[in-house]
Amino acid sequence: MPTTDKPNLPILQLVGVRKTFGDFVAVETLDLDVMEGEFLTIVGPSGSGKTTLLRMLAGMEAPSAGDISLRGVRINEMPPEKRPTCMVFQSLALFPHKSVGENIEFPLKMRGVPAKARKARALELMGVVRLPESYYAKNVMKCSGGERQRVALARALAYDPDVLFFDEPLSAIDYKLKKVLEKELKDLHRETGKTFVYITHSLEEAMVMSDRIGVMRSGRLVQVGTPEEIYAKPVDRFVSEFMGEVNVIAVERAAGVEDWTGVDVPGRFTLAPCQEIADAATAYVVVRPEYLRVLGEGAGADNALEGVIYNEYALGSRIQYQVRVGEKVMLVELSRAQALHAAPGQRVRLGWDARDAIAVRN
Ligand code: ATP
Repeated sequence: MPTTDKPNLPILQLVGVRKTFGDFVAVETLDLDVMEGEFLTIVGPSGSGKTTLLRMLAGMEAPSAGDISLRGVRINEMPPEKRPTCMVFQSLALFPHKSVGENIEFPLKMRGVPAKARKARALELMGVVRLPESYYAKNVMKCSGGERQRVALARALAYDPDVLFFDEPLSAIDYKLKKVLEKELKDLHRETGKTFVYITHSLEEAMVMSDRIGVMRSGRLVQVGTPEEIYAKPVDRFVSEFMGEVNVIAVERAAGVEDWTGVDVPGRFTLAPCQEIADAATAYVVVRPEYLRVLGEGAGADNALEGVIYNEYALGSRIQYQVRVGEKVMLVELSRAQALHAAPGQRVRLGWDARDAIAVRN
């Protein structure tokens, strides 16, 4: 949800928007509201249409059909520089031979702001993005990757846009620094109260930062929701698998409403009642590795499977076991305290309760 006290109204609205390049449909007809003050992230694999969608929002690409409105006014033909928006690119697009200060002040200079006021604002923005004042005169090429990221952010903020667009700005940054910058970006969003629209391949990145996430696949916006909704109620197998490593079991309806038969693993399974698959003859059951239990002697669960331990991986504080069940490999994740100390080849019984699994349509 938006973290500011601004009214919960759309700042940008897409109605029936579609984008084709010749015969190729890059973005299939979609409706989307970007709410004032929210952090919205569009995620999806390479080629799914994220950049095309962002470029249409920013005015760098005109939709082939449909309307884009800004606070209720149609802006399909409005060029990017006339929109109250600013894009932070993956490449950052900084002026390489200029100082940090000159880079940040560029938008202010274009607007004719006098030198003294420009410097004061640049120093203020450097504070916002946590760059030391001593960096003001430093050549931007002598800054580290993370520092350059902050310069690009400060420059974007100098435009004082209502909406900031981010085109995978953290994709070329190492994991540890990325984690730091993700949190900083989230803080920056809260502190500035501006609307952020961010695109990334990484759902993990999206989960950390966003109020809402839109998932794209092959040009279609398949689900929009809060991170919790996407995690707990993925609309289909694609979204659930995009969330990370999961166990997906194909099932077909057996006799009862909540009674299903395994297609790719043997067994009869109970699924929690679920609207998504109310009338379906086939479905997928998604069980996250942390919800799959290894059942000890006499222990029970709504659903159980027999398997053989096949591999074991240390994942920091957790251990992942690969368990072969028929032709399928199931993943189980246990904390180190629960480690099995079992050798490959050992038989185990896996179980999960119906409420811990998600049923998605085929
Ligand atoms: P990535 O994460 O790799 O950047 P993406 O999800 O942002 O991918 P887009 O860049 O939006 O995907 O591209 C979606 C599809 O549209 C791709 O198949 C791409 O080749 C195609 N496409 C994008 N721009 C053009 C263009 N100007 N002309 C023709 N095809 C294009």
